[in-house]
Amino acid sequence: MKKIRLGRTNLEVTRWGLGGIPLSTIMGGTTEEVIAEVITAALDYGINYIDTSRVYMDSETNLGAVLKDRRKDCIIASKSYSRTYDEVRSDLDESLTQLQTDHIEILQVHALYPHEVAAFMARGGGMDAFRKAKQEGVIDFIGLTSHHISVLVELAKTGEFDTVMYPFNVIERAAEHELLALARSLDIGSIVMKPLAGGAIRSTQKAFKFFNAYPVDLILNGVASVAQFKENIACAEIEEALSPEELAAFEQEVAPLGTEFCRRCGYCMPCPNDIRVPDMVHIFYQAVQGIPVEELPPDRLEVGKGLLMWMQACEGCGKCEERCPYNLPTRKRVQELIEKFS
Ligand code: SF4
Ligand code: SF4
Repeated sequence: MKKIRLGRTNLEVTRWGLGGIPLSTIMGGTTEEVIAEVITAALDYGINYIDTSRVYMDSETNLGAVLKDRRKDCIIASKSYSRTYDEVRSDLDESLTQLQTDHIEILQVHALYPHEVAAFMARGGGMDAFRKAKQEGVIDFIGLTSHHISVLVELAKTGEFDTVMYPFNVIERAAEHELLALARSLDIGSIVMKPLAGGAIRSTQKAFKFFNAYPVDLILNGVASVAQFKENIACAEIEEALSPEELAAFEQEVAPLGTEFCRRCGYCMPCPNDIRVPDMVHIFYQAVQGIPVEELPPDRLEVGKGLLMWMQACEGCGKCEERCPYNLPTRKRVQELIEKFS
């Protein structure tokens, strides 16, 4: 696969990078063996950029198990979701241990929210730990990820970040208004997350062709099997962009999804009552939405009845909603599902 320069990092990276969420057995991956096969297949293909995070459960551990013998083949980009100096340092130490390395190329601030910016960037805050780690040479570059484009735009201008990562796809287009051009003009590495909108976009080929009309450097895509890797990488190798007619048809195809759909990122977890919020609430809600209960296919009806006791266990604490970057109304949907299947 063709390599590109990742902005001011000067790293030469493949345009497609392996996303880290399905490298966890708990967050979308299957077994450690399958995850090792996926990582190995990507490296054998020549993919040289793998993304992970301290909060993707055992993703770093599974990655470290493969990379201990293939470290030179791969640029590691991990993340810390912590916001204080001590917590970020502690995360970094744990990442190094789990990844079985003494050095990480890119350490990213994970999913920063607008209300966290001031304290995080202030003297003595979490950002100081990133600066220190870079000075010490434990990390080479500092990246920023956020689901809030305003945060990325504001902080890109500080000159402190070497890469920015943002959700971007045919449905989520906020990045195209200012961020993409800004990153390019400041020579900041520009990294797309959620190219398939967390699985909501079914046409992988159209989803990847979409990016060929934009100044983005790297597209991260999590895959849970070698077969899925092969299918997706074939689509990512296509260099032509969508024609205006294809784009219009694609936009029409995804329009029914709206914007209130689950990206399966898992940030809402854990639920104190063990409800797997993405699958049990949102993905299922989307599967039965708008269909009267008497018209549901028998299998979905059975699933709904089976989920009822879990829905009834929801105590409405709202923790899942506080953590969801897309503000999905979990409690409201739980109530609707209870009413539908009771
Ligand atoms: S509101 Fe319900 S689903 Fe959400 S975290 Fe609380 S108990 Fe779990
Ligand atoms: S409910 Fe929100 S936080 Fe949870 S997986 Fe879906 S999009 Fe992500």
